[in-house]
Amino acid sequence: MKVVLQNLTKIFPSRNKKSGEEVVAVNDFNFEIPDGKLIGLLGPSGCGKSTTLYMISGLQKPTNGKIFFGDDDVTELPTEARGVGLVFQNYALYPHMSVKQNILFPLQNLKGKDKMTKEEMLERAVSAAKLVQIDDLMERKPSELSGGQQQRVAIARALVKMPRVLLLDEPLSNLDARLRLQTREEIRRIQKETGITTIFVTHDQEEAMSISDMIVVMKLGVVQQIGAPQDVYDNPVNLFVAKFLGTPPINVFEGRVAGEKLYIGEDAVLSVPGVADQEVYIGIRPEGFELNENGQLHCKLKNVEVMGRDVSIVSSNDASLNSIIRSIINADNKVDLSKEDITFSLKVHKVFIFNKENEERIYFEVN
Ligand code: ADP
Ligand code: MG
Repeated sequence: MKVVLQNLTKIFPSRNKKSGEEVVAVNDFNFEIPDGKLIGLLGPSGCGKSTTLYMISGLQKPTNGKIFFGDDDVTELPTEARGVGLVFQNYALYPHMSVKQNILFPLQNLKGKDKMTKEEMLERAVSAAKLVQIDDLMERKPSELSGGQQQRVAIARALVKMPRVLLLDEPLSNLDARLRLQTREEIRRIQKETGITTIFVTHDQEEAMSISDMIVVMKLGVVQQIGAPQDVYDNPVNLFVAKFLGTPPINVFEGRVAGEKLYIGEDAVLSVPGVADQEVYIGIRPEGFELNENGQLHCKLKNVEVMGRDVSIVSSNDASLNSIIRSIINADNKVDLSKEDITFSLKVHKVFIFNKENEERIYFEVN
């Protein structure tokens, strides 16, 4: 099921009539979500992710704009009539009911032509439970399950009505690191098996990058960039997106362009054909550095952290906005820790420059 968001906007009125300001939680969101894909909706806390999801689910009414499922305009439809499955961060299972009863519950409330027989309901519940691999836990109560198992029950409950669209709001936040990894892979597998168009909300860029077909990066209610995870990582449209994606994070410097050369301090680090003279921010991915005695960028060596396959070189530079610069290089490279200085050359496609005022990307030709 394709989902289309058209000028989707949500404005919350101010709570306090005199001094309070209204909050534009979601501002003119336009996106056509392709059928059968998993979309990661990503951004810092408060950027409007949940509000977007609530509007798609029908729990909140947009101030402006429309929502389509396929060709159906669902903007005015109540949640029950939309055919959405919802999973939230706190799983909200019914504590006094068994796993089986929890999963059956949404089916027992179906009315009219959707009403099912007991046998049909059970069959559906078992197949949803199998999908999330909890079919051997059907008689247990939620209190007798681990966090990961509880979250699977919540997913089974969302899937049992065979929703047209699956909406997941930070579904892994309450799980420990290992379970989070495992459960996110499960979600990806289930999504692929069922082919249900899924929107996955998270503030965790790594989580979104690892399981999404496409990611949407939001900031203060405004969509910044939409694309395949790797494309957005490789080609951020502004400084915010560049900083939000990637671990370790991108290194940011103050610099300038003069005579089509890019300067960090006194070091001319790259040619930037076609860019006018100006002050800029420079972002360099950790993997964008190469050890090179004759390199252009001079830094102060602080430390080297060995990580097996790679080493992480920690250095500093007066123009760096962060107190440390982190560069990741292959462990075959030997770094002489007794030296105070270290010089790098830069991989041109790992270096981005941004306008100092509006922080938008400035593009230059890469040969
Ligand atoms: P996210 O899920 O990305 O953390 P939300 O969608 O929950 O963000 O919130 C977006 C913005 O809208 C925030 O500034 C939040 O404080 C505000 N907001 C959310 N719900 C309400 C509400 N019911 N009333 C007023 N403001 C709200
Ligand atoms: Mg939220």
